[in-house]
Amino acid sequence: MISVEEAQDAILKRIPRLGRERVHILAALGRVLAEDVVAPRPIPPWANSAMDGYAVRAADVAGASGENPVTLRVIEELQAGFEASRAVGPGEAIRIMTGAPIPEGADAVVMVELTEPGGEGETRILQSVPGGEAVRPAGEDVEAGERVFEAGSRMGPAAIAMLASIGRAQVLVHQRPRVAILSTGEELVDLDQMPGVGQIYNSNSYALAAQVREAGGEPILLGIARDNAEDLELRLREGLSADAVLTSGGVSVGDFDLVKNTLGDLGNEMHFWRVRMKPGKPMAFGTLNGKPVFGLPGNPVSTMVSFELFVRPSLMKMQGHVGLHRPKVEARLIHPLKKSPERRHYVRAVASYEEGEWTVRAIEAQGSNIIHSMLRANALIVFPEYETDLSAESQVQLILLEEDSALGAQPAFAAGPSSPGP
Ligand code: AMP
Ligand code: MG
Repeated sequence: MISVEEAQDAILKRIPRLGRERVHILAALGRVLAEDVVAPRPIPPWANSAMDGYAVRAADVAGASGENPVTLRVIEELQAGFEASRAVGPGEAIRIMTGAPIPEGADAVVMVELTEPGGEGETRILQSVPGGEAVRPAGEDVEAGERVFEAGSRMGPAAIAMLASIGRAQVLVHQRPRVAILSTGEELVDLDQMPGVGQIYNSNSYALAAQVREAGGEPILLGIARDNAEDLELRLREGLSADAVLTSGGVSVGDFDLVKNTLGDLGNEMHFWRVRMKPGKPMAFGTLNGKPVFGLPGNPVSTMVSFELFVRPSLMKMQGHVGLHRPKVEARLIHPLKKSPERRHYVRAVASYEEGEWTVRAIEAQGSNIIHSMLRANALIVFPEYETDLSAESQVQLILLEEDSALGAQPAFAAGPSSPGP
């Protein structure tokens, strides 16, 4: 049996990055750029006012104060969106609004709060300002020709803002993986059916579809295959055009041969079966026409934990992400924890971050059939293979399952090479 890391390596080295597609910038949200993006012009395009006030020559107002106001002649009023028709000469000012281009001749803006009305066509400046005051220089945010993004950047809302500000409507991003999902089992019925004696609802297809979607992929539901080669093959064939295939169930000792042989008949090459972990030991991985096939265990928690550890990083890689894995943090375990040796346990747990420290407690019911344990968990405690006792107060490693739960521990720019420089 191989370790989780060996399994992850065996999988990830066989996962290709998907091709590129051009999409509208809003559709790029959460996705990874597949091109460098260069700004065609500076942002802001010209020096403009940071305030509502008066564009002046700083030298004219050098001595201004409340007791000694400087009176200037107001020669024009300038809204954002327009250009001054005249230059500001000595003793003159232009009434200017935030965002309007600085008129020729002016080199500073006095905010309106530091002025008072003068006589007809005049303003009184009540304070001196240095040159450049309240002037936003051209290119302050982005210079012309600047590379604002490198290929590999993850597009968050601020990235969308930047793309729009430089006038980009479309960008090249990596494709989203299409992921075929097949549940197997005689006992399963779908949501539009009434379970009879011995039957249960198929929950794994929906759990996996949701996980695929959350990881940026597009789930394709292949339904339920009965535990016979014909049905399995028929349904699996429908999934072969997808970028990845997930099956659930039918991979534990008794029935593994069925899934394995059927996949084999379709041309699948099996790379491993069974991983030294709990939950989720009977996990299989193969490739079929170069596409990854994940044989996930049937127990609902095993299915979801196996997805987290093996499928999610694969889908991230396909989409061009740099960071493939969930964030890991050290945490203080607040009670003792026991297990048998040899397999690594991924213990469903509730973690919280307070006063600079992560603490964690395990959820009581840890059965691989207890969906509640996933529902309540926001983290997995990594309980190492050969350890059997973790004492209260010991430091443990956590995998954080929710993006939000990582916010306390992560710097604001956690995207690595993805984030543009300051
Ligand atoms: P298996 O790996 O096929 O032996 O299934 C292990 C356990 O998971 C059994 O209790 C199955 O009933 C259950 N199971 C398998 N597939 C699903 C599914 N799609 N939804 C819910 N439970 C399932
Ligand atoms: Mg089964």
